[in-house]
Amino acid sequence: MELNLAWLYDDLLELYSDSGNIKILEKRCEARNIKLNVHQMSIGTVKDLDKMDMIFIGGGSDREQKILVDDLNQHKAELIKAIESNAVLLLICGGYQMLGEYYLSQNGDKIECMGIFDYYTKVVENDERAIGYVGIKTSIEQVPMLVGFENHSGQTFITNKGEPLGETTFGIGNNHYDKNEGFRYKNCFGTYIHGPLLARNVDFADYLIQLMLEKNNVNIQLSELNDEFANKARQTVIYEETN
Ligand code: GLN
Repeated sequence: MELNLAWLYDDLLELYSDSGNIKILEKRCEARNIKLNVHQMSIGTVKDLDKMDMIFIGGGSDREQKILVDDLNQHKAELIKAIESNAVLLLICGGYQMLGEYYLSQNGDKIECMGIFDYYTKVVENDERAIGYVGIKTSIEQVPMLVGFENHSGQTFITNKGEPLGETTFGIGNNHYDKNEGFRYKNCFGTYIHGPLLARNVDFADYLIQLMLEKNNVNIQLSELNDEFANKARQTVIYEETN
């Protein structure tokens, strides 16, 4: 079995080592004899998104988000086609912000984002930057919780279609007000959780692999792996934040 993943703007949105998520997916696919083909694409080389099983965008600074936004916006139709064909999207922080309506950054620049999803992001005056551990409770049966690290000035507000990825149990999440974090629509997941996210949440990594397989009409139970180290990493965060 082969799966295809497009890693977008790998050279620009990689400030928080979210590329670790790609490595974890590759290793967990390899352990099940699944070949994950990773296609790195950036400005001028983004293509064939509607042929991908998964699309990944990491996080980065306001500066890089401004640099790439015009190129990204040229691929709105392809992305919507991929989303509606049940492609898996994993969007981390800056990558998450870019598929919403707009991002009003710290210095007052309004970045007109893709407008694919019903949320906007803005820096709220006098609100502290969200930096620290974050934990959420999700409604995904296979992935009841997610923990990790957040570092963002933008606060995201969901306006209509779609739902938060979960309720915050500790940390800030989407914003200082709604006590929720991230976004989900179909197989698209936006989140502020760095870490990288999948390093501490291997059940979520397997869930994403399962969704990619189901997109290809392959419904199998993934074999168990030794996740002792990853689970200890998750427990460490939970212990530190709840004791
Ligand atoms: N530059 C955006 C913000 O500060 C995203 C940061 C990130 O990707 N961690 O909100």
